[in-house]
Amino acid sequence: MPQPALNECLECGLLQRCPPLPRGGAARCVRCGSVLRRHRPDSLERTLALTLAGLVLFVIANAFPFLAFRMQGQVTETTLLTGVAELYRGGQWEIALVVLFTSVLAPGLQLLLLLAVLAPLRLARVPRWLPRLFRWMRTLAPWGMMDVFMLGILVAVVKLADMATIVPGTSLFAFAVLILVLAAAQASLDPDLVWSRVALAPAPAPRPGDAHRTCEVCALVTAPGGARDGRCPRCGAALHRRKPESLQRTWALVLAALICYVPANLLPIMTVTSLGRSQSDTIFSGVVFLFSHGMWPLGLVVFVASVFVPLLKLLILVGLLLSVHTRTRWRPRERTRLYRLTEAIGRWSMVDVYVVTILVALVRLGNLASVEAEAGAIFFCAVVVLTMIAAMSFDPRLIWDRLELQHVRDRRAP
Ligand SMILES: [Zn+2]
Ligand SMILES: [Zn+2]
Repeated sequence: MPQPALNECLECGLLQRCPPLPRGGAARCVRCGSVLRRHRPDSLERTLALTLAGLVLFVIANAFPFLAFRMQGQVTETTLLTGVAELYRGGQWEIALVVLFTSVLAPGLQLLLLLAVLAPLRLARVPRWLPRLFRWMRTLAPWGMMDVFMLGILVAVVKLADMATIVPGTSLFAFAVLILVLAAAQASLDPDLVWSRVALAPAPAPRPGDAHRTCEVCALVTAPGGARDGRCPRCGAALHRRKPESLQRTWALVLAALICYVPANLLPIMTVTSLGRSQSDTIFSGVVFLFSHGMWPLGLVVFVASVFVPLLKLLILVGLLLSVHTRTRWRPRERTRLYRLTEAIGRWSMVDVYVVTILVALVRLGNLASVEAEAGAIFFCAVVVLTMIAAMSFDPRLIWDRLELQHVRDRRAP
């Protein structure tokens, strides 16, 4: 009987063998508890069906009016891309680019790439370009933020409720279903199954103790000398023992985000003009507005997402960096779990950027009513993107490396 393949836990770096999984079962790392692999029943068929449905919904969501804004007999209609176009016209191309990428390009490309990978696999074919496309799809996945965009729509509609009537368009319904379909597609996708279909040239099996490398995209463990030109023999991603210059990069990004956090909160993120009167809004005053109008559940969500989460995430990252520098042995499992948390929650901070985008798109009636994005929004957008990249560049295996080093030293000591 062939031995099960070696897996490296990408969160603590432990090499272990995964037994074959039962239907719907999962294997967790014996040391840190993170999920190593999960079996998804009928993964190929389900994901392919959901991808096709997603593509149809994506076209509808982009082709028809999204929301209409009605005030004193005047109507403005918007599509998904109106906000991006308006931001670009207003000179805020940085935000326009981030919104375009996270709400339209990343989800759309993700669906197309999934189709290009799953359709041939379903026909039992593995074209040469398949591993590369699947690697791109996996890299894009964290940047699709349609669910956060939906929350942004909710906040924007509530904000405008006493100013005008908001009429949902065809697109909005397609968009809402698309979010569910995309989430279901992601949940039913079994990346290990896709990777297992890619044929590999015979290579020496890595043994525990070897200076092996593990691909961070497809999780293939390669023995020394098994990779040509430092790239993964399966998906072509650059191979490293640990994420390159992880500590330095994460520090630089965290510091940059901390610096941007100050103007992001002090400067106004938008100016609202209504019946000739202009008023600038900061992130905090936006939260106060929701609270003072009795919308405290939504106010709480925006406060947590925009003020609390970015700061918490930065503090956790600083704490993790310091813990690696000081080589502490304190609760490595919990620290790894904290890291997982920062990776999962960071994207929700984007909600205020989307609120500004939607308001800019909807409220375009000149002196009667208009909304313009301000400098604070750019800094805020920078905070969210920088902390997301910072969390991605931190390597949680460093937490465990220090412990292993200590363990080896302790055993050597007489
Ligand atoms: Zn682990
Ligand atoms: Zn790979």
